[in-house]
Amino acid sequence: DRLVGGEQSVEDRAIDAALRPKKLDDFIGQHRVREQLSLVLHSALRRGRAPDHVLLSGGPGLGKTTLAMIIAAELGAPLRITSGPAIERAGDLAAILSTLSEGEVLFLDEIHRMARPAEEMLYLAMEDFRVDVVVGKGPGATAIPLDIAPFTLVGATTRAGMLPGPLRDRFGFVGHMDFYDPAELEVIVGRSAGLLGVRIADDAAAEVAFRSRGTPRIANRLLRRVRDYAEVRADGLVTRDLAHAALDLYEVDAQGLDRLDRAVLRALLTKFGGGPVGLSTLAVSVGEEPETVEVVAEPFLVRQGLLARTPRGRVATPAAWAHLGLTPPAVPGP
Ligand code: ADP
Repeated sequence: DRLVGGEQSVEDRAIDAALRPKKLDDFIGQHRVREQLSLVLHSALRRGRAPDHVLLSGGPGLGKTTLAMIIAAELGAPLRITSGPAIERAGDLAAILSTLSEGEVLFLDEIHRMARPAEEMLYLAMEDFRVDVVVGKGPGATAIPLDIAPFTLVGATTRAGMLPGPLRDRFGFVGHMDFYDPAELEVIVGRSAGLLGVRIADDAAAEVAFRSRGTPRIANRLLRRVRDYAEVRADGLVTRDLAHAALDLYEVDAQGLDRLDRAVLRALLTKFGGGPVGLSTLAVSVGEEPETVEVVAEPFLVRQGLLARTPRGRVATPAAWAHLGLTPPAVPGP
């Protein structure tokens, strides 16, 4: 588990739950999604009908599960939680759908990882609140239509582009969750500190926010690490200096890069003159699998404008040299 990874670690699980805002008004940032969603929910409540199905897309740790829970809470509806990988067969989905109560919210996390046959069952359920249960095998198999209670599906995906068109089209509302800016994360850190009983100075919260890669889950995790540090090495009050020292100790730098990110960048700069260099060559030079470099380190480096993927290979940007305090080689004159 990576300190600056967006995915939920085992340690995050209980804490995530404790720190989740429960109402739309307490959900920080994502103004557009929040306002759009508020309209969807209020108009449904006014009409006394289940709202359109909602798709939430965005990276891990940005608040999709939290929003799904808020949707159910705002509707005063029960919530059922499952995920794409848990649905291996159409029957798994049928078992869930056929036991939903009227108006229930079904949260389907990682919806892009659901088995294909289940996906087709979901189309029909979303559109007509019906499932076809297949009884028997081979030529004698018959499909028995079964009505299900009107429900609201909240699907979440980190890869909206991977969803088949017919599935995407069946959502009445698609909310794109962006990374949070440091000011929003600072508010989230302050709120979480209050809930966890952590005393933290404003400038220390800002420091944590800045290194959190635009992701609330990472902000909450870094907050816990600086809290530990302040409790053990000082009197518990997290000052800016303490936050700084703690995050340095955990090797999370001022822009939120960790050791692997910096190793990749440093190799690119010092061994390959800033590139272009092929992914596998770069990976070997830091002793990692190409996939690790590509999936774990590169996306954030690209997002930060430190690295570019070009057809000829990976290239460092001028910002990369500056970030590591190195001087780019002189460009030969004309
Ligand atoms: P996802 O489902 O997108 O992976 P979660 O909804 O589980 O993300 O959010 C991860 C953690 O970040 C939760 O503990 C939640 O407390 C916090 N969080 C996410 N978004 C917000 C937000 N807008 N305001 C406050 N806390 C948030």
